[in-house]
Amino acid sequence: MPLTPWQTEGKARFQVGSAFYNPASRTSRDLGVLAAAVQRAASDGLRLLDATSGCGVRALRYAWESEATWLWVNEANPELHELLTSNLAPLLTEQRAQLTHQNARRLFATCAADLDYYDFIDLDCFGSVAPFLAAALGTLKIGGLLYATSTDGRSATGHQPTVSLQAYGAYARVHPAAREQALRLLLGALQQQAAALGFGIQPGFSFWAGATHRVLVRLQPKPNLTPDNYGFLGYCQICGEYQTILWQKLGRTSCDCGQALTHSGPLWLGALHDRPLLTAMGDRARSWQWFSQAKLLDRMHAEAELPPYYFPLGEIGRRGKLDVPSRSQLLAALQASGFQATPTHCDAEAVKTDATLADCVAIARQIVS
Ligand SMILES: [Zn+2]
Repeated sequence: MPLTPWQTEGKARFQVGSAFYNPASRTSRDLGVLAAAVQRAASDGLRLLDATSGCGVRALRYAWESEATWLWVNEANPELHELLTSNLAPLLTEQRAQLTHQNARRLFATCAADLDYYDFIDLDCFGSVAPFLAAALGTLKIGGLLYATSTDGRSATGHQPTVSLQAYGAYARVHPAAREQALRLLLGALQQQAAALGFGIQPGFSFWAGATHRVLVRLQPKPNLTPDNYGFLGYCQICGEYQTILWQKLGRTSCDCGQALTHSGPLWLGALHDRPLLTAMGDRARSWQWFSQAKLLDRMHAEAELPPYYFPLGEIGRRGKLDVPSRSQLLAALQASGFQATPTHCDAEAVKTDATLADCVAIARQIVS
């Protein structure tokens, strides 16, 4: 094993060796640790499955920070065995973890065949997570949490719609709010796969972080996919307005300006996050003095139940042919006009609101004139 320096992240101490480790994606690991800690506090124990472990940093953090009681750590690449044995030594010595090297789908199939179900599954794939969704859901306890990563942002933001159709059974188009669409396509695929198995999911939180996007979902005992929460997002390329489109209205959709809409979907149209879970995670983040994570969770809480799109400031400026005011000025003016309006964690230069784009342009024009 090539010797590399020992490093730390949170309470984890580890070597990276030839494994992949990106320090910049720490926030997504922090959110997983917080959610697992909340889940642990609500139950007698926390059996955790780290399906694609890499160097083991997540497993170590779930053990030391979330206080997972038992961990199955799996990494498909057997060449990382020596590295993982070294990094996980404190857990393996305590017999608090086991280490295997299997393909993730085989791992889930083994667990399901043995009726071995988990409170928390971390599935951090490189590339599309779609091939693993149904098997991972089938390995969760009812009420358990699946934290799934995808790095296929290009297809989910509409740049490769055929790839999106193959992965999610949903056609993705390019438009200004496509980052949130990537999260909603993944939630929709999870919702549909769960329903086909006779279960439901509740989105816990959804996190866009540049090249990757992650969603955490809770398995529910009954399907909760309906034609009202799983449908289409319509976008007018002429005037920039959005509509949510239900299946029953598919043949009768057009923008108020008279133009036909482009349709993305089907995708999840319900809440992007579960507010009570975010509140519990935020309380814990503050108690650990994780203030930047708490601020992010507050932002996600505010956007959770707003319409499934947002308007970038540049889009408002371009459509209105005006110098756009600051985000904070525009948000304050939208709220003063009676609209709901918040920032979105998906785009630092955008507003998420129940106002139309035309309302945003009119209010921005009032501010700058
Ligand atoms: Zn239009």
